[in-house]
Amino acid sequence: MALYSNYSEESLTALRVELEQQLALYKSENLDLNMARGGKPCTQQLDLSNGLLDITIPYETDPNKDYRNYGTLEGLEETRQLFADILEVKPEEVIIGGNSSLNMMYSTLAKAMLFGTIGSERPWAQEDKLKFLCPVPGYDRHFSICELLDIEMISVPMTQDGPDMDLVESLVREDASIKGIWCVPKYSNPTGITYSDDVVKRLASMETAAKDFRIMWDNAYVVHDLYDESTSLYNIMEACRDAGNDNRPYLYTSMSKVTFAGAAVAAMATSKANHEFTLRIMGVQTIGSDKINQFRHVEFLKDMAGVKNHMKKHAEIIRPKFNKVLSILSKELDGLDIANWSKPIGGYFINLDVMQGCAKEVVATAESVGLKLTPAGATYPYKKRPKR
Ligand code: PLP
Repeated sequence: MALYSNYSEESLTALRVELEQQLALYKSENLDLNMARGGKPCTQQLDLSNGLLDITIPYETDPNKDYRNYGTLEGLEETRQLFADILEVKPEEVIIGGNSSLNMMYSTLAKAMLFGTIGSERPWAQEDKLKFLCPVPGYDRHFSICELLDIEMISVPMTQDGPDMDLVESLVREDASIKGIWCVPKYSNPTGITYSDDVVKRLASMETAAKDFRIMWDNAYVVHDLYDESTSLYNIMEACRDAGNDNRPYLYTSMSKVTFAGAAVAAMATSKANHEFTLRIMGVQTIGSDKINQFRHVEFLKDMAGVKNHMKKHAEIIRPKFNKVLSILSKELDGLDIANWSKPIGGYFINLDVMQGCAKEVVATAESVGLKLTPAGATYPYKKRPKR
């Protein structure tokens, strides 16, 4: 296909008429498609986990062992073991939360605002200025947390290997008000890329002006391969330990896109000191999280092999959908030089970049024919894409 930029005005006008006719045809089909929240599993995917609902809880006479009773602030041992295997950390580094990893991330930052964190001179809320680095495009709900807590967001472009590390290093070295960075290191939301070993090591070892700098390592898609092949991710806990920055990373994940979205189990993992700090406050927030659901998840998934096997079933359902979207994008847009899109091998998203100034209109046009997309700019801090 010829580049649109090489078209004469006359041919562009003719093309416009042709495309408007095509649009009218789509409109007449009364489509009702929703791709706005790619992170929402379909019914068929949810059905894969219906077995969870049939698992009965063994009743124990010893109240300390009874899943129906209070106890075990940091979570059941067997659930911590399962998440330790998923996050490649030690079980004693894991804290099980409630149903949402996002809630745990919010809670980590809210604690830092109120009390500071290991290495802080004062509660973050008492600092004159607070900033966070946000690799873009990124997960909108991370950005919403910063906005709510009045943490200024600095966008850092993503490359094929992760955030632009030259820029990250130079920013954090100079500015003590930069307290952290958001990372979705595997099958990143929304670009689908996995951080390279070099990026992980540089994040772990870089010199930061802030003594209490934190990496918010949201590994939401750690087991979400679309194919048999997987990408490997260097172990951030190990890398930080090797660099003498043990307290730098906070890792998170959940079963939201493994079993039931919003009704599963979430977990975090961090250093011993951060762990103790977190539990001390968490023990005031709650007596403990839902052990019945924790037990059911381990009974249902068993171990890492069980998780992988279950995720293969998800992949069988969603891979054809990814392939369909990719083949349509390729058929309609290849060679026109008007759009680029990601071709992920895991995660939940396809990221489509269109020409400067066109994104809002693309989303509105899609909506006018019954296809809902994520709002333009949603994956950028303050919902604004910086000019390219
Ligand atoms: N983190 C990322 C990167 C996500 O994409 C999502 C959901 O789409 C979440 C976290 C939410 O996870 P949870 O349901 O555990 O709160």
